[in-house]
Amino acid sequence: MDFDLSWVLWGLPIAFVLGWLASRLDLRQLRIENRQAPKAYFRGLNFLLNEQQDQAIDAFIEAVQKDPDTSELHFALGNLFRRRGEYERAVRVHEHLLSRGDLSRADRHRAQYALALDFLKAGLLDRAEEALRKLEGTAYEGQALPALLAIYERTRDWAQASEVAQKLEASGQADFSGRKAHYLCEQAINAAPADAEKLLRQAMKAAPDTARPRLELAALQRRAGDSTAAYKTLSRAAQRAPAAIPLIAKPLVEAAVAAGQQPEALEILHTSYELSPSLDVLEAIVALEREPAEAREWYVKHLKREPSLVAATRWLAGEKLEHEQFHPHVQKALEHAVKPLTRYRCAACGFEAKQHFWQCPGCQAWDSYPARRVEEL
Ligand SMILES: [Zn+2]
Repeated sequence: MDFDLSWVLWGLPIAFVLGWLASRLDLRQLRIENRQAPKAYFRGLNFLLNEQQDQAIDAFIEAVQKDPDTSELHFALGNLFRRRGEYERAVRVHEHLLSRGDLSRADRHRAQYALALDFLKAGLLDRAEEALRKLEGTAYEGQALPALLAIYERTRDWAQASEVAQKLEASGQADFSGRKAHYLCEQAINAAPADAEKLLRQAMKAAPDTARPRLELAALQRRAGDSTAAYKTLSRAAQRAPAAIPLIAKPLVEAAVAAGQQPEALEILHTSYELSPSLDVLEAIVALEREPAEAREWYVKHLKREPSLVAATRWLAGEKLEHEQFHPHVQKALEHAVKPLTRYRCAACGFEAKQHFWQCPGCQAWDSYPARRVEEL
């Protein structure tokens, strides 16, 4: 068969030229489209870089109107609104994104998370909770669960907080046993005595080496009139959480006196004091010593170890001074000077308080208050 090679010789370059022309045409079309929409976008970006957020928003709105399909632009706009505190507009942008049928799964989750942040920032906790709940099982779960936990803590919904802490622990984020024990203790505060005891025992099981569950169980037992049980609970607490003995010392003394266990309690306190002298343990020892002179000797002993103004003031209070008529004035001035030294201070934010807190009222951190007074830090 006769095959005309000239067809191949002509055909190949023609096909090549046609292909090249088609590709140029496509590129030109794309360039024209791109030139129209991103102009406003780049203008917005420019404003944003110059910290002119108002103008940036106007430019972005224009860009979004020209090309309503650009999801990235919507995200940028929504975040801008949120940062400026215009939560209603941020919500509208993110809800608009979510209503779009063509949104990819990943972008849908991203918009859902952005919406949750809008509600969180706006303080609409119930709507934030609803939005965050929808993110469980998605790539945003790692961010959503801690945010949910913060909401439940703020609304003091301890049962839900426990459930989220459980999930966070299961995902291997951190150890939440101490936190779960706190939630149980918080639930016990408003529960009937029998239920409270059950909750506190659960808390003891969740975090056996923490002081709070045993301290609160002992208080419950004291209220029920069972001082012997309270003493046992507290001495066990001192054993399991020796760092918290300064917090345990006072109720331990009260329970020991009521249960007739003074010598045993004194032994626990002496041992703890020798290991690490603390003002609260010192006061507890002084309270348990039968001989007043011997008790006051403990302040002097403490002063030899630690230059403590608090201990000096306590010692002076019982001392007979030469000019006795001035003593109350001197004592008052000293007590006043000592007051700030006997506070507790949050290690996370520095918030100081007269009483010890398990959760800081300033920064909401748990267990951020050391068991020691400011003077001892
Ligand atoms: Zn704090």
